[in-house]
Amino acid sequence: NLNETVEQNSYLVTAQISEDVNATLRKLRALNESRQEFVSNVSHELKTPITSMRVLADSLISAGDAPLELYKEFMTDISKEIDREAKIIDDLLSLVRMDRSGTVLNRKETDMHEMLEQILKRLRPLAKVNQIELTLHTVREVTAEVDEVKLSLAIMNLVENGIKYNGNQKDGYVQVTLDADHQFCYIRVEDNGIGIPEDQQELVFERFHRVDKARSRETGGTGLGLAITKEIILLHQGMIRLTSEVGKGSTFLVRIPLKYIESSTPAQAASQK
Ligand code: ADP
Repeated sequence: NLNETVEQNSYLVTAQISEDVNATLRKLRALNESRQEFVSNVSHELKTPITSMRVLADSLISAGDAPLELYKEFMTDISKEIDREAKIIDDLLSLVRMDRSGTVLNRKETDMHEMLEQILKRLRPLAKVNQIELTLHTVREVTAEVDEVKLSLAIMNLVENGIKYNGNQKDGYVQVTLDADHQFCYIRVEDNGIGIPEDQQELVFERFHRVDKARSRETGGTGLGLAITKEIILLHQGMIRLTSEVGKGSTFLVRIPLKYIESSTPAQAASQK
């Protein structure tokens, strides 16, 4: 009888182990697939500007004594492609840097209203060109312990998107709202632009995902902006939520804790010393 119980138990343990191993294998396979997809996306994205530059350069070479105007026009296009390539590389580097575990944030008490004002100031020229009204509404002034440079980049991406994906309509706006309670600060970036279809709302935070590739390229997008934003917000132990309706607009809500909470246990902290 005892033998039977032991046998039964060992069978159960073996079944549990093999289930765990299978689950781990599935996770590893999925991870590997997403890594392969990322590498193939990276190669594609990096090749696109190079292909355009090659076409432009080749046509100039074969054109022989083309007029100076044409040279200037093609060179301007080549220069734009170089900017694009540089932007993709910059964005990729900042993502890869943040991917490495142990990324340190340079946290300082930061006046959030002041930070948002600076962001809007930098984006005013772009808003003007696109005829978008850009406003900041501060419900409650607050300071938070954040990495100002990184968090500014995260919020800037959201505001820039609100301006870029506004759909050339009249009365386009992007409104940024700052609020806080005793624990968190809330930054809302709301636009009345083209909106994001429901089935795309989770995907837009993935690397290189764009709802409309042509439109994103046209506006100089790399498809990495929201992935960077999300990564920075997670590093701050914050969260980001999107609500959107096609043709009506999008709202991104960011929540950041006012104080950084050590995530390691006291034992881990002691062993790191
Ligand atoms: P991109 O460089 O293409 O702007 P992002 O990662 O910033 O890349 O955004 C991913 C995609 O999400 C964009 O290509 C666009 O299709 C969509 N998107 C982002 N923000 C908005 C917005 N405010 N309104 C409509 N679509 C947006």
